[in-house]
Amino acid sequence: MPSNIEFKGDSKAVLLKSLLAVAPEEGCALLLGKIKKHELSKPKKIVYEISLIWPCHNIWELGIKYLDDANKSLNKAKIHESKENRFLIDPKEQLIAQKWARARNLLILGHAHSHPNGVAIPSTTDLASTTSSTLMLIANNNEDLRAWWIKNSESKLGIEIPWDSQHQNIYSQRS
Ligand SMILES: [Zn+2]
Repeated sequence: MPSNIEFKGDSKAVLLKSLLAVAPEEGCALLLGKIKKHELSKPKKIVYEISLIWPCHNIWELGIKYLDDANKSLNKAKIHESKENRFLIDPKEQLIAQKWARARNLLILGHAHSHPNGVAIPSTTDLASTTSSTLMLIANNNEDLRAWWIKNSESKLGIEIPWDSQHQNIYSQRS
């Protein structure tokens, strides 16, 4: 789990713009970058440095197959489903992005999506449809952008990860 995250260059502005461009539908994107380990700092810090945004098309559609867990929580919630409250990134697109990133010595650090009409907190569906521990960034229409580490344990958890530009300065001076 990262201690915090950093945005390089204009990646944060690009992320917000691409996520919110499709409002009121949910936007989604993959986050590419590097993992920086600060072994000497105490406690040890692991920083996820986001340097490139890979905007994705939200391919969710009614009847699309979710995981069993997600289906259960969807049925419980009984809300009207649409692209305004659901998103799905095409697995084929993830593979293309992964190949592209690898060739440039980058990693897919996680993904981001928007809650145009809500808060920037992982929903029950967000938690349920996560199959492995991952970084998840969520933005809402007020450009409130929050970072979460989704822990894929028995009871799925979203842990907020801090980020701010001051951290970025401290780390860039050291490295
Ligand atoms: Zn969500």
